Amino acid sequence: MTLSVAVVGGGWAGCAAALTLAEAGVKVSLHEASRTLGGRARAVELGSHLLDNGQHILLGAYAQSLQLIERLSPATSDGLWRLPLAIEQPPDFSLVCPRLPAPLHLLAGLLAARGLSWRDKLAAARWAHAVLNRDEPPDHSSVSQLTRNQPEKLNRLLWHPLCVSALNTPPDIASARVFRDVIRAAFGGCNHHSDLLLPRRDLTSLFPAPAAARVLELGGEVRLSSRVTRLDATVDAITLDTRDESVTYSHVILAVAPQHLSALTNQVAALETLSDEVGRYDYQAIATAYVQYDPTFRLPKPLFALDNGPAQFVFDRGQSHGQAGLLAFVASTATNLPENWLDQAEAQLQRIAHPGPVLWRKRIVEKQATYACVPGMRRPAVRTAHPRIFLAGDYTASPYPATLESATLSGVQSARALLEKP
Ligand SMILES: Cc1cc2nc3c(=O)[nH]c(=O)nc-3n(C[C@H](O)[C@H](O)[C@H](O)COP(=O)(O)OP(=O)(O)OC[C@H]3O[C@@H](n4cnc5c(N)ncnc54)[C@H](O)[C@@H]3O)c2cc1C
Repeated sequence: MTLSVAVVGGGWAGCAAALTLAEAGVKVSLHEASRTLGGRARAVELGSHLLDNGQHILLGAYAQSLQLIERLSPATSDGLWRLPLAIEQPPDFSLVCPRLPAPLHLLAGLLAARGLSWRDKLAAARWAHAVLNRDEPPDHSSVSQLTRNQPEKLNRLLWHPLCVSALNTPPDIASARVFRDVIRAAFGGCNHHSDLLLPRRDLTSLFPAPAAARVLELGGEVRLSSRVTRLDATVDAITLDTRDESVTYSHVILAVAPQHLSALTNQVAALETLSDEVGRYDYQAIATAYVQYDPTFRLPKPLFALDNGPAQFVFDRGQSHGQAGLLAFVASTATNLPENWLDQAEAQLQRIAHPGPVLWRKRIVEKQATYACVPGMRRPAVRTAHPRIFLAGDYTASPYPATLESATLSGVQSARALLEKP
């Protein structure tokens, strides 16, 4: 049987998988349940405003995602805005990493940080050195345990907000090992790995849409509003049902979010353990609120960290996306947000700027934004116990937590594993 592959799920993982297969000359059909590609990182239209389901940020260490975005972008377009790492939270705290070789840039940033005592700075530098150089923390330990000897102020202003934004999991239950891996990826390699990259376009047009366009160009199919409702797997083939039809393929890559996996795998006996393991995941919410102020308003910098309230960051979409006067507030680990959280977030902003009257506001809460990245969690490989079924998604085994980088890495790896199949 010649290869004909269905990719189920048009998020960043599925788009990366479909693109890799199409570029290898394989006949591929990408099925996406919704009308928009991108999954948990997609464009959302609000009247004449093009927003995202959630404000995203990439790290300079996200080599796979950056390579895919840059390769597919027209030479004239600048999809990402690269900024050296700066965590600025006026008037209390500021950490800016200068352009020195890594990890000296972190050390220099910590020593020059505003708002920390010398004792705090030295404690932070020692801790960072140990995390970058010493053995792995035990697999059962949490970020709170990893940082328990750090001064309270450092945990409050730096390590715990970093954990919440990188892992979207509260430090008390977040995996110390995954946090350590993120710190190492950001600060242990080249100095530009800790750069922050802000999208300048909506998230669908940043990668999923150009990837799908390339798949079509190469003779593949992209089916939107095509939810796969049933998967039937035999030793010879995979048959997928959608509302309109039933189609048989040689292989399938399941690139759905972990919470949607068992709806497709529960009929496949070989995947029972996989369904059980992934079925035990817990999830954390992320809330993004867009607030439109007068178009003449701009923040002094494109993003600021926020303390003492539900939001951890505020982004100026005027500076990144040309949407003048529009700010995006982000609250991670937002599972139990109070009803008035956006009022509280706007009060947090008052410590930095006074933007004047609000013209409109829009809140988007993704209740299952990411799985909780807890110690000892089992993340499956892209190959499954069924030789014709492969996985892609941010929950598969990866050095990163639930991020765009885990998603794109898994998509490319899954497609390559399928092409190399025994
Ligand atoms: C609000 C928010 C903020 C975030 N911020 C960041 C950030 O700043 N940086 C970062 O790196 N990451 C961030 N993330 C995480 C990142 O968005 C995800 O890790 C990544 O998008 C996951 O991609 P995926 O392809 O694995 O899964 P998904 O994006 O969930 O894609 C799965 C796709 O499968 C489709 N699907 C499901 N079932 C079916 C079916 N039966 N048939 C057909 N299609 C189906 C879904 O519609 C979806 O499009 C954030 C996530 C959220 C929600």
